[in-house]
Amino acid sequence: MAEIEREAMEYDVVIVGAGPAGLSAAIRLKQLDADLEVVVLEKGSEVGAHILSGAVLDPSGLNALIPDWKEKGAPLNVEVKEDNFLMLGEAGHVRIPNFPMPPLMNNHGNYIVSMGNVCRWMAEQAEELGIEIFPGMACSELVYGENGEVKGVVAGEFGKNPDGTPGPSYEPGMELHGKYVFISEGVRGSLAKEVINKYDLAAGKDVQKYGVGMKEIWEIDPAKHKEGTVTHTMGWPLGSNAGGGSFIYHLDNNQVYVGFVVHLNYKNPHLFPYMEFQRFKHHPVVAQLLEGGKRVAYGARAITEGGYQSMPKLVAPGVALLGCSAGMVNVPRIKGNHNAMLSGKAAAEAAYDAIKAERSGDELTAYEADVRDGAIGKDLKMVRNVKPMWSKWGLTASLAFGGLDMWTNNLFGFSFFGTLSHGKNDAEATEEASKHKPIDYPKPDGVLSFDRLTNVSFAMTNHEESQPCHLQLGNADTPIAVNLPKFAEPAQRYCPAGVYEVVEKDGQPEFVINFQNCVHCKTCDIKDPSQNITWTTPQGGDGPNYPNM
Ligand SMILES: Cc1cc2nc3c(=O)[nH]c(=O)nc-3n(C[C@H](O)[C@H](O)[C@H](O)COP(=O)(O)OP(=O)(O)OC[C@H]3O[C@@H](n4cnc5c(N)ncnc54)[C@H](O)[C@@H]3O)c2cc1C
Repeated sequence: MAEIEREAMEYDVVIVGAGPAGLSAAIRLKQLDADLEVVVLEKGSEVGAHILSGAVLDPSGLNALIPDWKEKGAPLNVEVKEDNFLMLGEAGHVRIPNFPMPPLMNNHGNYIVSMGNVCRWMAEQAEELGIEIFPGMACSELVYGENGEVKGVVAGEFGKNPDGTPGPSYEPGMELHGKYVFISEGVRGSLAKEVINKYDLAAGKDVQKYGVGMKEIWEIDPAKHKEGTVTHTMGWPLGSNAGGGSFIYHLDNNQVYVGFVVHLNYKNPHLFPYMEFQRFKHHPVVAQLLEGGKRVAYGARAITEGGYQSMPKLVAPGVALLGCSAGMVNVPRIKGNHNAMLSGKAAAEAAYDAIKAERSGDELTAYEADVRDGAIGKDLKMVRNVKPMWSKWGLTASLAFGGLDMWTNNLFGFSFFGTLSHGKNDAEATEEASKHKPIDYPKPDGVLSFDRLTNVSFAMTNHEESQPCHLQLGNADTPIAVNLPKFAEPAQRYCPAGVYEVVEKDGQPEFVINFQNCVHCKTCDIKDPSQNITWTTPQGGDGPNYPNM
């Protein structure tokens, strides 16, 4: 194919992704200098369309960025009033009292929010400061400078044929160049992956770990709704099959967020995370809450779980990784939004200093130091052993030892365990199907539980069908030749949107990719045991259209 000619636009800072990290960076840059030229590119059809979080927001990030957020009308309306932690058995539950929990686990002072709406509000604040935000613009490629530095991105390429050649309405997009490029794509970003590999940023760090989080919004009977109540559960239905658990957050307007996270280092390829979520809702504690209500939205997204020891180096020439592109979730708290905001602020401050000193295209080492030695590093370091303990020793032991470890870290800045390693990555953790029994999942009843495709229609996801499939196979034969006999092709189950199927054609199994269903969770890129699936960005505006997730 002939070289594509593109127009280029010059900025001080180019920001990929309008999540809490990217928007915070943009806002901080303009707070520091109103004359800086800043652009934010977002692949969702609007800001917030692809944002999926729990979300109980620790406001520390927002306090640091926009201290008068209350006066400015930020949508943080529901303060946490009640915090419950339940251990579920199949029919019953035990409430774990709050007092043995280290203070960092306390949710009082936090807010139950729609992060989609928080991002929409942040985008308004950013635009008032003069920041250009372009939704519907997917950044599909990095642009490198003469010295090997990242100097920009390609965004807004539309209208390719399925084979990748330019179609009749092809638009080549633009190059957006910056003195610095911030990658704030969230978990498992495709450009972040390229940057990490190209500059070997994960060298000397532990592997990154992930979970898949699925979430529904329910409107429930007002008599059962308790605004400000936060409940987390562990135990049933996952038991010892996988790490993970649920969250149930009562926001306003009789709505409840019901979500379920499955750690992706599970061994049994027959495990079906989506069906675990569905059967969880039949537990008496959950069923009695949801009965009489209706599910109004569904979505899914991977979540980073590697924490402190897995964060790659954050900077390379011309580029910085922000928020969950580097993995800044505090796993036991299930919180990363505050760190995403703080990282955006820190990256902006480092870039501002560098630009004032007439630097460009180099490493923002001050940003790296701020993250590791400042509030983010402190937040993540205290809990660094909880996830590896859970993976190695199971739920009960990790609750006891993880609790002890968080206390000693909290009180004395000390751990008896040093820093534990995560071991294998999540793809390698998958064992052969023959070593495990298939799991028999009850059929969804259509009232509390739903089949996957029905639920996906509540993600309002959409992809232009005539473009190339954005889920690329390294080797087209691997799913049937390797994954099916060895792992019972787990893509059929780990994908929470039913993208992957094995069907029979002329008596032979065939692997089908329904990329139109994709909700951009990135689980396939993480969990495929052969590491044969690469998630690339489809054209801008495609993907889910979440309401107030
Ligand atoms: C199920 C679940 C529950 C969670 N619960 C909580 C919670 O209760 N509290 C909490 O604090 N945290 C929670 N988290 C974690 C939190 O959501 C993340 O830490 C946070 O979203 C990270 O922010 P970010 O800005 O780095 O990325 P994101 O919020 O993921 O934003 C990234 C943005 O970049 C866009 N983008 C990505 N790639 C491109 C591209 N190539 N071109 C253009 N745009 C692109 C995306 O569309 C998206 O809008 C939860 C996560 C999950 C999955």
